[in-house]
Amino acid sequence: MGGIAPMAENPPAIVMDGAGLQSLLEALADRGYLVIGPQVADGAIVYQPLSVASDLPAGWIEQQDGGLYRLVESGDARRFAHVVGPHTWKRYLYPSRQRLWSATRQGQGFEVSTEDEQPRYAFIGVRACELRAIGIHDKVFIDSGFTDAGYAERRRGNFLVAVNCARAGDTCFCASMGSGPDVKDGYDLALTEIGDAGDPSYLVEAGSDAGADVQRMLPGRPAGPDDLSAAADAVAAAARSMGREMVADAGPLLKRHLEHRQWDAVAERCLNCTNCTMVCPTCFCSTVEDVTDLSGMETERIRKWDSCFTLDFSYIHGGAVRREGGSRYRQWMTHKLAYWWDQFGESGCVGCGRCITWCPVGIDITEEARAIAASEAAGQGED
Ligand code: SF4
Ligand code: SF4
Repeated sequence: MGGIAPMAENPPAIVMDGAGLQSLLEALADRGYLVIGPQVADGAIVYQPLSVASDLPAGWIEQQDGGLYRLVESGDARRFAHVVGPHTWKRYLYPSRQRLWSATRQGQGFEVSTEDEQPRYAFIGVRACELRAIGIHDKVFIDSGFTDAGYAERRRGNFLVAVNCARAGDTCFCASMGSGPDVKDGYDLALTEIGDAGDPSYLVEAGSDAGADVQRMLPGRPAGPDDLSAAADAVAAAARSMGREMVADAGPLLKRHLEHRQWDAVAERCLNCTNCTMVCPTCFCSTVEDVTDLSGMETERIRKWDSCFTLDFSYIHGGAVRREGGSRYRQWMTHKLAYWWDQFGESGCVGCGRCITWCPVGIDITEEARAIAASEAAGQGED
């Protein structure tokens, strides 16, 4: 699955100082990777090309709540104290607009070309929830038996530098989804920010042969028991400070309440803007457009992200199947938390909290599930 080769033997973890991050970026660039990492831009922490470690968002964290995102100065030098923002790694692995093929008229026929060569990406700062989301897309696009050639190629060349979260955001709930805040597998290198917040150090652990190869190029000292326990304490503190929590057994709960009045209640607030699906690291629905120039000489097929919150999404001959906002929200939430298990054997929600933060009216998937659970516990009916 994906670009992670199994590792023969764990090299010992090391601890490097902040300057080691520049060595990491250079080692990856030397190996031909296009390095992408978190940076401050347009009032948010976003994922974009990164060549110097001083561009990492040192000193910035964010305040997040339903419909609220604001950068705040942390007052220290930690580079990874922020959590997840509006971008997800799917913007690189599964671009929002992608040309699948183009054709140029040649005499009586067409010359067809398919996708361009894909860059080899190295991602810096992939969080546990995001690793889980990438694993879900690997299952959908590579392991399902219907391989998406472009995605598979981008993943084959992909190097993942994960970061264990030492701080949880106000809309994070990965601990209750079993997907974080600690990274478990699927990475090449894992970093944990430890030590003095004014001059942090980085515990570096390899998770693949490619990771071990890069780790050998990094300056550092062998990690000791104190470093390992500092890293474990930091991650445990993040788990304790999770801003949100999903109710237990949310999938079966929702399946028992497909006609619950809460679906209409959420529809009164939902704008059907599609934000929640655009920012979600696991949503992958798409639509396809064929575009031809006026002369009929050039044509191309474009794949674009789509959303189950639009009327057109469920349009078949005669009209849309999900005409009401409540049925569209129900489709999205029950797919994430219930029917994804039936399709893929795991949750489609990894608890990143983005759909809460970036919903303009602050609709909160954890609150919606809790409202249904509370009415069930109170023995109330569907309406
Ligand atoms: S449904 Fe919301 S919390 Fe869950 S993975 Fe998607 S954006 Fe994150
Ligand atoms: S739940 Fe929020 S983000 Fe999603 S479509 Fe409705 S208003 Fe937009």
